[in-house]
Amino acid sequence: MTSVSGKSNVDWKAFASRLAPVEVIDEAVLIKKRSRDFFWYSPILNEQLKRCFGDLVALPKSVGEMKHCLQVAYEAEVPVVLRGGGTGNYGQAVPVDGGLIIETTAMNRILDIGEGYVRVEAGALMADINAALNDSGQEMAMFPSTQDIATVGGFVAGGSAGIGSLANGPLREPGNLIEVKGLSLESTPREQVFQGEDVLKIHHAWGLNGAITEVTLRTVPSEDWIACMATFDGYDAAYSAGYALAAAQNISPKLVSVVDARIAEYFPRLKGHIREGRDLVVSYLPAADVPEYRALIANFGGQAELTLSESERQAAKIPHAFEFCYNHTTLQVLKSDRSATYQQIGVPDPLDTTAISGLRQALGDDVWTHHEFLRLDGNLAAIDLPIIWYSGPERLAEINRIYADRGFTVYDAHTNKVEGGGLHGADYTHLAWKKRMDPKGLLNSAKSSAWETVKDLTPEEIEAKAVL
Ligand SMILES: Cc1cc2nc3c(=O)[nH]c(=O)nc-3n(C[C@H](O)[C@H](O)[C@H](O)COP(=O)(O)OP(=O)(O)OC[C@H]3O[C@@H](n4cnc5c(N)ncnc54)[C@H](O)[C@@H]3O)c2cc1C
Repeated sequence: MTSVSGKSNVDWKAFASRLAPVEVIDEAVLIKKRSRDFFWYSPILNEQLKRCFGDLVALPKSVGEMKHCLQVAYEAEVPVVLRGGGTGNYGQAVPVDGGLIIETTAMNRILDIGEGYVRVEAGALMADINAALNDSGQEMAMFPSTQDIATVGGFVAGGSAGIGSLANGPLREPGNLIEVKGLSLESTPREQVFQGEDVLKIHHAWGLNGAITEVTLRTVPSEDWIACMATFDGYDAAYSAGYALAAAQNISPKLVSVVDARIAEYFPRLKGHIREGRDLVVSYLPAADVPEYRALIANFGGQAELTLSESERQAAKIPHAFEFCYNHTTLQVLKSDRSATYQQIGVPDPLDTTAISGLRQALGDDVWTHHEFLRLDGNLAAIDLPIIWYSGPERLAEINRIYADRGFTVYDAHTNKVEGGGLHGADYTHLAWKKRMDPKGLLNSAKSSAWETVKDLTPEEIEAKAVL
C-alpha cells in the first residue's frame, strides 16, 4: 500500500496488520476525508492544508485498543494525530506530516453520571452526553455549537467555550473540567490522570501531549430554557441590549449573541419568523425570566420576535438557537458564499457600546461584527467573531491592526500553530508534558512552532521556561 500522504516510506499494509484487531480505514478517499477539519473557513489555511493527508485511520473501541495503536505507532516511529469529529477550525486535526490518524468516535461510552459531574469516554458526542444527562435533571456547564458532531475529547483538546459559558465560564475556568485521563506515546503507553487545576496541562494542547481517553466534566441543574430572538434597528441598540441582558441581575441567560443584520440575512431558516434587515440578539434564558426579558428588549427599542420552549421550537421546525451563534454564524454565511471568512477578537474592558460603534466605523463595510458574551473569572467579557469579506492577506492584516490599535486582542484564526491562535504564545507547561508523554515527538508536532526549540531539553528544563 503506497503512502497516501506522499510523506512516508512505511509499509502501511504491514502496519495495518500489526494494528489488528483494531479496525482500520485504508481506502485513500476515506483517509483523505478524515484528514480534514473546518480549516477551509480560512482561505490562508485552505491553501496550506488542503493537500495534507494521513496514511491510515485507526478506530479503537476501547482504551486497550487505543494503547495498542499508540504502541505500534511508537515502535514504527510514525506521526500520530488524534481525531474526534473533525470540527476544529484551524487544521488542528490535519495530519500535516502524514502518518496515523486515530479516530476516537468508537470510544463513546457514558461511564458515570452523578450529582454535578459526568464521566465519559473521549469519543462521546457532546449531544449524546447532554441527552444522557437529561434524565438526571442536569446538563453540561457548556457545550460547543457543533454538539451533534463534536466529541468531548476534541472539545477538551481543541475547544474553549460555548453555550453555557455566559453562566459558567469557559472550559478552563476552575471546576468546569474535573478530570482528564490521557495515554502517553511510548513502548508501553502509560495512563496519566490530570485533576483539578492540573487539567490545564492537557486542555487546549491540540492533542500534542497525550491521547485523551476519558473526561469528567462539571454538570449543572438543567433549566426550562427558552430560545429567544429579538431584533433591533441598528447594531448599537442590539449590542447595548445584549450587553444589558448579559449583565442583568434579574435574568440568568446562558447565552447572549449579537449578530449584525447583514449576517442575519444569511439565515434562511429564520425567514418569516423574524423581521428582516434588523440586527439580532440571540439568547437562552430560563422560562421564569421571559417577562423581565421582554421588558428589557422593549426598553432598548427592540422587538422580541421569538421566545420558544424546546417543544415549540421543534413544532415550528426552527433550528436550535445555538445554530445562529458562535462559529455557526460563519458557517451559515459560508453555506451561501465561500468568499467569506472570519476572525476571533477579544473585546477590551469596558465593553461599552461607544467603543464598538467607533470600531465598526473604522473597520468598514467588509467586516460585519458578531459578539458573544461570556463570563471570565466571574467577570463579564465579550468576544467578536466577525464575518470578513476576504480580499487578501494585506487587508486581513490591516483589519487585525485596526482591532489591535483600539485595544482589542486578535486570536488569529488563520494559523495552524497552537501558539498563534487562542494561546497567544508558547505554553511551556503543555510542551513539558509533551516531552513526558511523547518523548519521540510524534503527536501532532507540526502544530507547535515552539516544540522544535525545546524538543531536546528535559521536561523540567522546558517547564522552567514557563516561569521565566
Ligand atoms: C460551525 C462551528 C462552530 C463551532 N463552535 C464552537 C464553539 O461554540 N465552541 C468551541 O470551543 N469551539 C467551536 N468550534 C470548534 C470545534 O467544533 C470544537 O472545538 C469541537 O469541540 C471540537 O471537537 P471535535 O471532536 O470535532 O475535535 P477535532 O476537530 O476532531 O479535534 C480538535 C483537536 O483536538 C485533538 N483531539 C481530538 N480528540 C483527541 C483526543 N482524544 N486526545 C487528544 N487530542 C484529541 C485533535 O488532534 C485536534 O487537535 C466550532 C467549529 C465549527 C466548524
